[in-house]
Amino acid sequence: MTKLYKPTIYAKNIFEINYSKLKEKNIKYLLFDIDNTIADNREKYPSSEIISLFKTLQKQGFKLVIITNSLPHRALRFAKKLNVKAYYLSFKPLSYNYHRILRKIKVSPNKIAAIGDQILTDIKGANKHNITSILVDKISSNESFITKLNRYKENRLINKYHIIKRGEYYE
Ligand SMILES: [Mg+2]
Repeated sequence: MTKLYKPTIYAKNIFEINYSKLKEKNIKYLLFDIDNTIADNREKYPSSEIISLFKTLQKQGFKLVIITNSLPHRALRFAKKLNVKAYYLSFKPLSYNYHRILRKIKVSPNKIAAIGDQILTDIKGANKHNITSILVDKISSNESFITKLNRYKENRLINKYHIIKRGEYYE
């Protein structure tokens, strides 16, 4: 049960992830969520800090992909600015887009890490597909009704199975 929901890594935000350690573990691909992981839901475009982080990671040899449940127009706006491919309307944790990505990049899941702010979507989706899962704290509390509902379930799950302790980060 907890195996599906336990993040491999837990970091405060995407800037605090130990990317060199991911390199050492032979991770080649990073799959990023958008909402509340790389941007506040109200932000229409990625910030300059995110743009420069993505550039740095690409220079370090990582391949970056966006996998999001958000709508095409939002996903594509981010993808264009960040110079990456985006898979939108993914309905994470459902398999459809994970399978599309795995087919497209032809890399085994143990060389992939996925980064997101939600256990029920991002972490479960990654774990289900044997992808290294990285949880980050949400950027803000400005969330949709559905996400709020997911948060409620998420918090119950975290407390019941002691999945993580908020603020106690690990690599
Ligand atoms: Mg999110």
